[in-house]
Parts: sequence; C-alpha cells; structure tokens
Amino acid sequence: MPANIISISNQKGGVGKTTTAVSIAAELAIKKHKTLLIDCDPQSNSTSSFQLNELPNQTIYEVLVNQEHIQNSICSTSISNLFISPSNQDLSAAEIELVDITDRELLLKKAIKDIEDNYEYIIIDTPPALGILTINCLSASHWILIPLQVEYFALEGLNNLMQTIELIRDKINDQIEILGIVLTMFDRRNKLSFEIESEIKKYFESLLLGYIPRSIRIAEAPSHGMPIQIYDKDSPGAQAYSIITNKLLEKIEDTENN
Ligand code: ATP
Ligand code: MG
Repeated sequence: MPANIISISNQKGGVGKTTTAVSIAAELAIKKHKTLLIDCDPQSNSTSSFQLNELPNQTIYEVLVNQEHIQNSICSTSISNLFISPSNQDLSAAEIELVDITDRELLLKKAIKDIEDNYEYIIIDTPPALGILTINCLSASHWILIPLQVEYFALEGLNNLMQTIELIRDKINDQIEILGIVLTMFDRRNKLSFEIESEIKKYFESLLLGYIPRSIRIAEAPSHGMPIQIYDKDSPGAQAYSIITNKLLEKIEDTENN
C-alpha cells in the first residue's frame, strides 16, 4: 500500500509547522509506523531538530532541481522507523531555478512515487509561503494538517489558506483533504486562547483535532537534537502530540474504511 502523505502547512511563519511535523513523525515512528519526514523548507529546521550522524550527499534540493533519485536523499534518524529527507539553504534557490521547468508543481509528487510503497506515512514540513515549494508539497499530498497559533490574526490567515487549498484542489490535486487543524502554543492562563478556540469551533468545529500547550520543554527539544517524545516523553507537550497523532490515525483509518 502506498504511504499516506501529509503536508504540515500554513503560509504564516512561526506557527508550529516544524514542531508539529517533527513531533508527529516521531510519534508515528514510536507507534511502529515506518515514517519518512521530508523537510521541504530552506530554513531546514526539521533537519536540524535531529542530531543526524551521517547526512546524505543529496538533499531535497537536488531531488527537485536536478531530478536526483529521492532515495539518495534519505537517511535514518536516532529513532527506529523514522527516516528523513533533509533540506538545506540551497533550497531557497529552487523558487527561481524551477521557473522554466514544465510541470514544476509536480516534481515532488513524481519523486515520491518511487518510494511511496516503502513507508506507511510521509510527513512533509513546508515553508511559510505559498510559493512553488509549498505547491509541490500540497500537490504531492493526500492530506494537509494545519497548525494554527492561537493569536488574534489566526482566523484571517486561515481563511486565506482555505482559499489556497480550494485552488490547489481545483487546478492540481483534487485528492487533497484537510486532515485537521491543530491549535498550537495554547496558553490556558490566557483568555485569548479560549476565545480563538471558540471562534475556530464556530466555523471549523469538525476540523479541530485538538491543541498543543505552550511549553518550554517543546521549545527546548530541538536544541538537544531530539523530538519532544524523546527529550521529555511524559511532558504535557509530548502527550498532547501523542493524542493528536491518535486522532489523525483514527481519521485516516475511518476514511480508508468508507
Ligand atoms: P516557520 O514558519 O519559520 O517554518 P514554523 O511554523 O515551522 O515556523 P516552529 O519552528 O515549529 O514554527 O515554531 C516556532 C517557534 O515556536 C520555535 O522556536 C518553536 O520551538 C516554538 N514552539 C513551537 N511550538 C511550541 C509550543 N507548543 N510551546 C512553546 N514553543 C513552541
Ligand atoms: Mg518551520
């Protein structure tokens, strides 16, 4: 069976995409699902969230721009069942270098085709922009998971993102579905967190998977080269990501059975 491919996406910066991608990918692997995390962001924060011993010669940049085989970009991590296709800052040139290439929005989808039977889940971390890289990610995915930081402008950004998803569905990938919305950096001491939650519920209740608390432990984990599940597996943040992962697995299973 080909992998379930999930993009973690929101064009807004700093909302918890990378943290969510890394944490969910780690949680899936810990739950014994063979998982590939693809870092499709030139900032390469997902890549540097792991202490990788041997970086592959190729990165996702060479895969997209030079049509290098994606297998040559994949390496193992310290977590069994978890593999990563890393990125580096070269990828920022891809936006320009891909301008003249035909079917440039489908390069990642084509690259993944060759390896999609090797994994149960492929999680893609996307950049904070709606350029050609993010479009490649969404074109290649069955699902989009939206991390939403609980802050005043969250809903405005969400409406833009919903429009973009509709466009992608109309023009490039009619298979893509929204897996859910995850509220990130939720602060129980802040009334605004609950206000934003109830606003989201008003419009998107069926999509709301849950929330991740604001937590110093989550923010610290990448500097130790570990996902939160390894850095502090009993912390509220690790447990929240475990619950979200269970919910998304349930939703995917329900969809497969219908
Ligand atoms: P970008 O758009 O730049 O790629 P992003 O959407 O991937 O950003 P992250 O890098 O995951 O966002 O998170 C932004 C910052 O917030 C990071 O410093 C991260 O450690 C921190 N952070 C993420 N989630 C939490 C949380 N639940 N509690 C505390 N800090 C968090
Ligand atoms: Mg990021």
